[in-house]
Amino acid sequence: MWKRAHPSLDGQAAMARTYIVIFKGQAMTQIPEFKNYIGGEWVRSSSGVTFENRNPANHDEILGVFQKSTAKDVEQAIAAAREAFGRWRLMPAPRRGEILFKVGELLLKRKEEFAQQMTREMGKVLNETRGDVQEAIDMSFFTAGEGRRLYGQTTPAELPNKFAMSVRMPLGVCSLITPWNFPMAIPSWKLIPALVCGNTVVIKPASDTPQSCYNLVRVCEEAGVPEGVVNFVTGSGSELGTPLMTHSDVKLVSFTGSTEIGKTVSIACAPSFKHCNLEMGGKNVIIVADDAHLDLAVEGAVWGGFGTSGQRCTAASRVVVHKKVYKEFLEKFAARAKSLRVGNGLDPHVEMGPVVNQGQLRTVEDYVEIGKKEGAKLLAGGHRLEGGAYSRGFFHEPTLFGDVAPKMRVAQEEIFGPVVSVIPADHFEQAVEIANDVPYGLSAAIYTQDVNKAFMAMRDMYTGIFYVNASTIGAEVHLPFGGTKQTGNGHREAGIQALDIFSEWKSIYVDYSGKLQKAQIDHD
Ligand code: NAP
Repeated sequence: MWKRAHPSLDGQAAMARTYIVIFKGQAMTQIPEFKNYIGGEWVRSSSGVTFENRNPANHDEILGVFQKSTAKDVEQAIAAAREAFGRWRLMPAPRRGEILFKVGELLLKRKEEFAQQMTREMGKVLNETRGDVQEAIDMSFFTAGEGRRLYGQTTPAELPNKFAMSVRMPLGVCSLITPWNFPMAIPSWKLIPALVCGNTVVIKPASDTPQSCYNLVRVCEEAGVPEGVVNFVTGSGSELGTPLMTHSDVKLVSFTGSTEIGKTVSIACAPSFKHCNLEMGGKNVIIVADDAHLDLAVEGAVWGGFGTSGQRCTAASRVVVHKKVYKEFLEKFAARAKSLRVGNGLDPHVEMGPVVNQGQLRTVEDYVEIGKKEGAKLLAGGHRLEGGAYSRGFFHEPTLFGDVAPKMRVAQEEIFGPVVSVIPADHFEQAVEIANDVPYGLSAAIYTQDVNKAFMAMRDMYTGIFYVNASTIGAEVHLPFGGTKQTGNGHREAGIQALDIFSEWKSIYVDYSGKLQKAQIDHD
């Protein structure tokens, strides 16, 4: 049973009421209630219903309750964003940049607090959640500078006494829909470039990780982002998706998540030609050449395969190894996988945390069975972890399959868990062919000491991101990020390329000749 307590006075609960859980007549713990942020106000959902945010390392721990929003809440958020757009687009871009710089400064101040909360809400180890917050800091500082650039072009006109230039225009209201695996970094990749370009937003975070996005939005408020410019609604994607994707006042839907839902977004946006940028799944690969520094390649495979419990869009879930070094590589890789310490990500000795929820754990277990049935050789792991400290969370062993054939499902489909498939190759060209032969095209890597092979792989791998002698994960915010094939729809987030998502070009001609001049016709 829930009972409302007095509102707490700390900063976080200023817009959230605190609840006491009564169990067998005893007050057990205090659980904060987090609200939506619409038009500069922290408000409850019109549904009057909330949902819980639980710790995947200990599902008895409830971190907070969030609003189970309705289409009506989303419509109010869109109306607030539309209203604010008229003013925000006219604020000089360098001023917008200054506010975003302040966002970066505030995030930096609270980095540790936000990282701890993120580990509790989605499980990855503290070093990784610190990295997630750092990515939002980097994005804020990098993009704040764009407020003083947002470069267009001036160029000669083909007629006399005529001036030509191009400028970026904001789009208007943007719906931002984000996943749980980078719960602050990915919202920042969308929100910050959208704002610097002069757009206003409605952001809906993944239901597994609303608090990290809430933290980002709170910081925006504190940094001085005016009311209505950033609006935050929590709740189920399947319910809120329709108004977020189809409302006539929304000009862009920026989505990161699974390819399956990405397709839904694309279809929903098509009838009204709404812009949509989609960042979706991956089946990333490391190629290990016969001349690779093998120990380095093993470290890269462990980090790429089991970092974030394999739940990165760039996770190295396949490793293609030259037959000459295949046996030695497998032995070393299996030994490292077996030695990884799995547990609560808040423990500094833990190297791999839980997976995000029960559903994800079941998916991993299902794929382990599929791999075994397909004839792949289980070399490490293969089971969920149970008992003791594992009994309250969603833990799975780091799992390694050897002798995987390129067309097996475990080598083709995104598992999004700690399962890596190792595939032997007869020669370099075959390795590249196998590496490319999946429906996705996000990230790939090669370990080799041979500069010629490195350059050939750079040329021939059809992915949006490529690494030489480094794993498939670890993007930097000033470079474009995204993928080919079923990973994306041709856009790139991050870097200055993100500005192309969140703005439209306008070409402007100023004719000061005082007479009618006709382009392409008045040639002489
Ligand atoms: P997901 O299930 O597709 O969910 C992503 C977001 O979409 C969530 O906010 C979700 O809300 C929402 N959503 C669900 N159903 C919807 C619908 N019918 N209409 C509109 N929105 C809807 O993905 P996920 O499990 O959170 O994330 C994992 C996936 O993201 C993986 O495939 C991974 O590769 C991909 N990813 C890609 C990148 C990249 O940059 N390429 C980066 C990170 C992750 P609810 O949470 O409420 O369901």
